[in-house]
Amino acid sequence: MNPRRVCKPIQIGRVTVGGNAPIVVQSMTKTDTRDVKSTINQIKELEAGDCELVRVAVPDAEAAGAISAIKRGISIPLIADIHFDYHLALMALEAGCDGLRLNPGNIGEPEKVKAVALAARERKVPIRIGVNAGSLSRTANPQLTIAEQMVEAALQQIRLLESLDFDLIKVSLKAFDVPTTIDAYLSIAQKIPYPLHIGITEAGTPRTGIIRSTVGISTLLYLGIGDTIRVSLTAHPREEVIAGYEILKSLNLRQHGPILVSCPSCGRAEVDIVKLAETVEKELIKINKPIKVAVMGCVVNGPGEARDADVGIACGKTKAVLFKKGERIGVVEERDFLSALMAEVEGF
Ligand code: SF4
Repeated sequence: MNPRRVCKPIQIGRVTVGGNAPIVVQSMTKTDTRDVKSTINQIKELEAGDCELVRVAVPDAEAAGAISAIKRGISIPLIADIHFDYHLALMALEAGCDGLRLNPGNIGEPEKVKAVALAARERKVPIRIGVNAGSLSRTANPQLTIAEQMVEAALQQIRLLESLDFDLIKVSLKAFDVPTTIDAYLSIAQKIPYPLHIGITEAGTPRTGIIRSTVGISTLLYLGIGDTIRVSLTAHPREEVIAGYEILKSLNLRQHGPILVSCPSCGRAEVDIVKLAETVEKELIKINKPIKVAVMGCVVNGPGEARDADVGIACGKTKAVLFKKGERIGVVEERDFLSALMAEVEGF
């Protein structure tokens, strides 16, 4: 795995992004931002899953005005997502947003961009330049690949902010196409000193979207690229946060709750290991500590993995062997498989 790319950290509220800070997991609400109560409720659900930054869409003045009330009801930093209307960016800043996501290019005249940059700098609020493959300018050079066009678009917008003496910048370059996204990030990572927010845009429903996002995000993280991640899914945003942490845990980049090791089951299994593993997975949602739990289906390969985990169970016909920290600690009857395993997990 490559060492992490060196970049200039920025501060979004109390969360540091970039530098040596842990890679941040973020999401975006799917409520109408003008509906303060529903938006706060959804953000609280995200907070319960340890989402660290949340973005809300700001399509109009009423949504911008709702930010201060939303901020009062939540604990994590809030990023306002703005398109086109610089007044909304100024209003969101006034309302106390901790970050802005916008494309200076679609804000229009330099004077408007300047007004936003000055107001953001005064409040020390960073701006994410978020380039999406689907919204590249029609004037982009057709000789360039899509990835190159995305990089060019980002660089133009970075230069615009830098010319206004603004450097609290974070950048994202997202496409639905995974190789395009990876190419774009690989290119820009060498050209700028700013943190990168990574993700695959419009990745789809959980079944395919998690895979698509994982392929793109993990490839970049393995190469040392990425300071904050979002798994964009057509689903409740809590699914995005769960998937984000699972990606980081898989690469040993963050610890977050338990890790479940379970065998796929095969003709050797003498118990319904699929059902047992699914039940254990549901129980583990309630556990906060970073613990590795193994659920194995037989006494052939089971004991090895079960020993390797903090707590493990290797199931045989009607009986199973329990392991803790590599030691065999007992034999349990089939009716006690779940309760005995969970008792060891809780007591670990
Ligand atoms: S641990 Fe046993 S039951 Fe599970 S897949 Fe391996 S051989 Fe099959």
